[in-house]
Amino acid sequence: MEERLIDSSFRQEDYEEVGLRPRSFDEYVGQEKVKENLMVFIEAAKQRKEALDHVLLYGPPGLGKTTLSGIIASAMGVNLKVTSGPAIEKPGDLAAILTNLGPLDVLFIDEIHRLNRAVEEILYPAMEDFALDIIIGKGPSARSIRLDLSTFTLIGATTRAGLLTSPLRDRFGIINRLELYTHEELKKIITRSAQILNIQIEDEAAYEIASRARGTPRIANRLLRRIRDFAQVRSNGVIDLSTTQYGLEALEVDEKGLDRVDRNLLYCIIQKFGGGPVGLDTLAASTGEESDTIEDVYEPFLMQLGFLQKTPRGRKVTRLAYQHLKIEPEQDAQISIID
Ligand code: ADP
Repeated sequence: MEERLIDSSFRQEDYEEVGLRPRSFDEYVGQEKVKENLMVFIEAAKQRKEALDHVLLYGPPGLGKTTLSGIIASAMGVNLKVTSGPAIEKPGDLAAILTNLGPLDVLFIDEIHRLNRAVEEILYPAMEDFALDIIIGKGPSARSIRLDLSTFTLIGATTRAGLLTSPLRDRFGIINRLELYTHEELKKIITRSAQILNIQIEDEAAYEIASRARGTPRIANRLLRRIRDFAQVRSNGVIDLSTTQYGLEALEVDEKGLDRVDRNLLYCIIQKFGGGPVGLDTLAASTGEESDTIEDVYEPFLMQLGFLQKTPRGRKVTRLAYQHLKIEPEQDAQISIID
């Protein structure tokens, strides 16, 4: 599949991102409600000298879930162990991770919905009773012994809470949804990153990048690095508005932050399905994209822009999207009107 500049999943080039990662709640921009609550829960847990309750963070990729778990661990003053659902293949792998955790430590599992069933079952007693049930022997002589673990905090991250099985979801005491960021918030993030990377950027240029970054800090930082290249080659290295606009156009990111794939998705609904409604799977088949990717990556942003509407019968393109794409809606097309 085509590589997308504004795809929000982690890529090789994002390693520079690590230095940009906020290390404290003060540096973490936005998500005010989530931060406020977490700070209270952390303070209370510290006063009681207990582990923080297990935390589930969900929302599209690149919104700061991994970053937030690092901040939680450092606010608790404990170690952080980072892993991911697909990386834990066998129950034994998870058992090894769990037995190595120190008291009150934080274990972060990214893409927790991708844990396999056998591994997930180890997590239930671990989360609830801080214990591992291990089967020793085989057949009739097999017996189970219980191994005590240190109390710890599990932070699970996923794109949609609905992807988790309910026994797993029910074991999280704190469930937080991360929201797409506003332009102002992204501008702050870009300005901060520019300082760290020693890039000079004008205010209006920072806002321009912010307004095309799909509400996602990872994309904002990535666009900043690409535009830095244009500024270096085309002008004196300072990022100004005209270089930014030139660069974004060259990268085919339009004024709203849509790229070719987003536009294709909208065109497809308009041209092949009269503007919708069309079911997710049909849409996936006709665009060649995975339905999960459509649901987790494209849709949240297109819906936030008011370009796409989810109805019980499927996805519909709105009048705003027609206006943006400069297409005249056909009289007989089923167009939803939300202005
Ligand atoms: P996720 O785990 O949700 O995919 P990350 O935590 O890896 O996202 O965030 C991606 C990058 O975006 C981070 O390295 C960081 O530089 C930046 N970032 C994310 N959230 C924030 C925030 N609230 N404030 C500042 N930068 C952020």
